[in-house]
Amino acid sequence: MQALPLLDFKTLEVVNLVVAIIAAVVWATTGLAYRGLPAARYLFGSSLAVAFGAALKTGLSPDSAAWISILALESIVCGLWLLYCGVRSFFGRPIRARQAATALLVTLALLIVFHQRWLLREAIFVFAQILPLFLLLPLFVKHGSRNSFGIQLAAAGAVIGIFSYLTIGLACVAKGLELYAIPSLEHVQTYGLLLGMVSASLLVFGIALMIIEHLLHEAENMAKRDELTGISNRRDFMFQIERVHALCAAANMPYSVLLIDIDKFKNWNDSYGHAVGDEALRHFTRTALDQLHSDTRLLARTGGDEFSLLLPGEGAEQAAEIAKTLVEQVRARAVCVNGKVLHLTVSVGVAVYMPGSQAGYNDILAHADVALYGSKNAGRNRYTVFDKRNVREDDAPFPARFRLVDKPGAPPAGVGERRKQGLPQSG
Ligand code: GH3
Ligand code: MG
Repeated sequence: MQALPLLDFKTLEVVNLVVAIIAAVVWATTGLAYRGLPAARYLFGSSLAVAFGAALKTGLSPDSAAWISILALESIVCGLWLLYCGVRSFFGRPIRARQAATALLVTLALLIVFHQRWLLREAIFVFAQILPLFLLLPLFVKHGSRNSFGIQLAAAGAVIGIFSYLTIGLACVAKGLELYAIPSLEHVQTYGLLLGMVSASLLVFGIALMIIEHLLHEAENMAKRDELTGISNRRDFMFQIERVHALCAAANMPYSVLLIDIDKFKNWNDSYGHAVGDEALRHFTRTALDQLHSDTRLLARTGGDEFSLLLPGEGAEQAAEIAKTLVEQVRARAVCVNGKVLHLTVSVGVAVYMPGSQAGYNDILAHADVALYGSKNAGRNRYTVFDKRNVREDDAPFPARFRLVDKPGAPPAGVGERRKQGLPQSG
């Protein structure tokens, strides 16, 4: 131990202060940039409290008043409790303010009582920092430490902090109680402090990374969701159908697609206004979701008043049953808006991928589109299952005509686009 060079306490305190100021700047800018992230405010408070304590500590001299050193130590401990509250807030857990306040009051009382016995005071100070660090660990484990590099980094910081403070604390107690002759307590303290700084840096970087991971995850989710209805959007649907097609083709399993279009929806907007139209879209979504009864089925809003339902592993019979129930339920369930009772109807086109078929998922979507037009042409408020035998000769070549996109994997054009392209319309 004594072979190691002795580090200068004051220099370490100054570095500690600089680290805390940098962390405060990071959390202040994060809090300003993401106002919906209350954790950033706790973390900012935490860094400020540590910076304040470190600043007081750097100015301490043997003549300083006892209350200044007590305030410095208490501030640093307070900073760690604020960090704990920030992490709880980030994970959406209730803030344990009472627990933190009690721990801080007990620490303050002990620091005041033992302020003249500096070894004991030092031990109280480091042990008081261990508790919030220790309480962070189960939080990190519960919230997916396996999948998040940020959580792993922060957890490593907490473990290093616990180790270094425990070492300093035990060394102080051993020396104070003369249990063990510590050859150089200063070495233990300064290297412990250095490790404490490594711990603080890892915690700051780890938590910052956790926040970045969280924001990325949210952005990814937003890119997949339809804002109005909260269900998947076209982008997610296309991603999922490509995946399901590959899985079903490999496993020799069928899958089905339902294309659903609300009937005469333009009239809704024209007669009752856009807000009522929006409510009708949400009403349809709720009704359709109630019929799914399975996590593997995927409902997506793939256009203005167009929805798509993907049924992995389900063949024609099950798809037709769902389409039938859906048409009936939508017709039966009234929408109540502004005291008015209104009724929607939908037209549905069903297409099925059969194992061994050469069809791609774009072909299946084109088939469902044809079937949907069958329903619209036959008078709406019904479903039609695609059957190749019913395609007339003059519709040939069928796949080219109805495949409205060229790029594999790109979404099929919707009803509106189809009209814009001058393709046959329903009457
Ligand atoms: P059809 O039975 O042939 O489907 O007749 P339609 O009137 O429903 O015709 P179409 O499907 O082409 O009309 C879709 C309408 O959906 C046009 C547009 O005004 C409306 N729409 C698209 N997106 C939204 C939206 O987000 N909110 C509301 N309120 N209306 C929308
Ligand atoms: Mg429509």
